[in-house]
Amino acid sequence: MTATIPHIIGGKAVPGAASFGTVYNPATGTEAARVALGGASEIDAAVQAARSALPGWASTPPVVRARVLFRFRELVERHADEIVRMITDEHGKVLSDAKGELQRGLEVVEFACGIPHLLKGDFSENVGTNVDSHSIRQPLGVVAGITPFNFPAMVPMWMFPVAIACGNTFILKPSERDPSAGVRLGELLLEAGLPPGVFNVVHGGKDAVDAILEHPGIAAVSFVGSTPIAEYVYRVGTAHGKRVQALGGAKNHMVVMPDADLDQAADALMGAGYGSAGERCMAISVAVAVGGVGDALIERLAPRVRALKVGPGTDPESEMGPLVTRQHLDKVRGYVDEGVREGANLVVDGRDIRLQGYENGFYLGGCLFDEVKPEMKIYQEEIFGPVLSVVRLPDFDSSVDLINRHEYGNGVAIFTRDGDAARTFANRIQVGMVGVNVPIPVPMAFHSFGGWKRSLFGDHAVHGPEGVHFYTRLKTVTSRWPTGIRKGAEFTMPVMR
Ligand code: NAD
Repeated sequence: MTATIPHIIGGKAVPGAASFGTVYNPATGTEAARVALGGASEIDAAVQAARSALPGWASTPPVVRARVLFRFRELVERHADEIVRMITDEHGKVLSDAKGELQRGLEVVEFACGIPHLLKGDFSENVGTNVDSHSIRQPLGVVAGITPFNFPAMVPMWMFPVAIACGNTFILKPSERDPSAGVRLGELLLEAGLPPGVFNVVHGGKDAVDAILEHPGIAAVSFVGSTPIAEYVYRVGTAHGKRVQALGGAKNHMVVMPDADLDQAADALMGAGYGSAGERCMAISVAVAVGGVGDALIERLAPRVRALKVGPGTDPESEMGPLVTRQHLDKVRGYVDEGVREGANLVVDGRDIRLQGYENGFYLGGCLFDEVKPEMKIYQEEIFGPVLSVVRLPDFDSSVDLINRHEYGNGVAIFTRDGDAARTFANRIQVGMVGVNVPIPVPMAFHSFGGWKRSLFGDHAVHGPEGVHFYTRLKTVTSRWPTGIRKGAEFTMPVMR
């Protein structure tokens, strides 16, 4: 009997009744568990639970809410090995990478522990004679988070610690491909003393997402996933009067200037291109070789891509695990086939990988393309696998133009020793997160994470100050006490004197 991963609604595990999905172990290709797939009735039950918990939680002093998060942080640390193993078993990434993901999620919890300070408003004394003004930020109500498969712990943790610290109650709809980490985090929140109903988990696919977008009891939706779904979530959610932030897909470039340290650049490309089998929204998938560094770069990369240690994520020797599902493996392989058909030069072909004892796992070896052209599909579309494309361009300006023309604008990097080039690049590039000799410039929790163009729909990035603004509404109070001058009724536009 395979285990069933339940929803958590109102602090209780709810097994689900109608339909179930299969969760695989991608390293072996076997079924690991089944997950209850919810729809409108489960979402409605979660909204009712979150609504009941809202008045008590919203009026709990922020410092007391923060104490729950401090305890939660300790519990996650204590159970880190268990959660990391859960991530690897369902997602496939190597254990050290899963550990890093959990750490980045915990940093948002640490940020949210400072919520009493973050919610402080502004105060102006005597904006008019004997009149004062102050601003406060209040929670929105019941909010929801819809998350992708590639960071089953970190992406939910970009959202819920800030949302609940601000006094909202929360419904998480994790990816149905690796849902266990979200459930475990929910259990630990309860153990930390979070009142039942403040954090709920409902699994599912499109039905559950549509139920969230259409439910009048949900005030705001945070989404992270692919661009077509992000755009859909933004359009439908805002049409239903909700505040929405929807982060989408990416095609991240790394520009290698002729003066760059090429060994350092090659190291960076290996980690950023093939880490987590390329299934990161901040993965580098295009290396832009400027002014003739192409040959030297390929010379350094090719042997290392061939030597990549691919294996189950639980093997400490593995540098790269399998892809998440067979369907995704087929899609990524399809892109490699397409690149060859389009005429790109496949320098390293990882399609024929066979791992003894893991013949049914969803593995693909590292693939490296050279001479990729901007009109090719493998350049234009997000592949989301261990496939790095090298584009050769003559100079800095053509590189900036190429990147600025791309529909995505999540992350980008430049490798150079020239401060002037780096500064001009950071200024002119139409991308939300920029690295200078840093290949994966993921902002820390106290800054905010978000791309530009079709990588983010909405006005707010996640976590950091933008997260606090997203999950709160501004109210400004202007007050006068009766000791002031009494002037009788005034019928003109009030002007402070
Ligand atoms: P996805 O878009 O397939 O799924 C994301 C969420 O949407 C899941 O919870 C899923 O259940 C739901 N969903 C799927 N199909 C749906 C539909 N037709 N209608 C409504 N909801 C639907 O994304 P994924 O494959 O899980 O994750 C990978 C994608 O996420 C990549 O494109 C990656 O770039 C992106 N991503 C972006 C960021 C970022 O910060 N910009 C971070 C992580 C991942």
